Amino acid sequence: MKEFNLDDVIRKVPDFPKPGILFYDITSIMMNPEAFKWVLDKMAEVFSSRNIGAVAAVESRGFIFAAPLAEKLGLPLILVRKAGKLPGETLKKSYELEYGEATIEIHKADIPVGKNVLIVDDLLATGGTLKAAADLLIEGGAEVTDVFSVIGLPFLNYSEVLKDFKITTFIDYD
Ligand code: IMP
Repeated sequence: MKEFNLDDVIRKVPDFPKPGILFYDITSIMMNPEAFKWVLDKMAEVFSSRNIGAVAAVESRGFIFAAPLAEKLGLPLILVRKAGKLPGETLKKSYELEYGEATIEIHKADIPVGKNVLIVDDLLATGGTLKAAADLLIEGGAEVTDVFSVIGLPFLNYSEVLKDFKITTFIDYD
């Protein structure tokens, strides 16, 4: 596949959500159809050759990349949502964020028991969000093999937190 310079299309917003934080914003990828298509095609290329049985998407920006991938690969899509959004019986977990604390939930009945799951989000920082999602899926009986984010911030040490999984990112920032 032809290479694409993603850095050119990722908006960087200084001092968001608080002073001293440089926020990497993926909304500018979706504003550029060529960039968005490149990311989705590359995801399909990478993950079609791995033995994935289901895709899990982290609210909310993970949904944008996970849904087209699940459709392209013909795989079930599980939503990992913020607390209080899912109507059915759920498994729930609270975890530390880069800036604060959060709780996520998954529908218990949607957990793909025994299947290899890929978890998708937009950006990996400390790895806490994807680890919490992985813990929930594993608690429900799924196997988590892969985690993906478009952007990685390796200096925040996500690779240590996610050492049990194969980590894929398309662009990393120091
Ligand atoms: P982690 O749990 O520390 O890995 O943080 C990742 C989560 O925080 C993801 O759901 C991201 O969407 C969000 N996040 C943290 N920093 C940024 C950023 O610079 N840009 C976009 N999202 C971010």
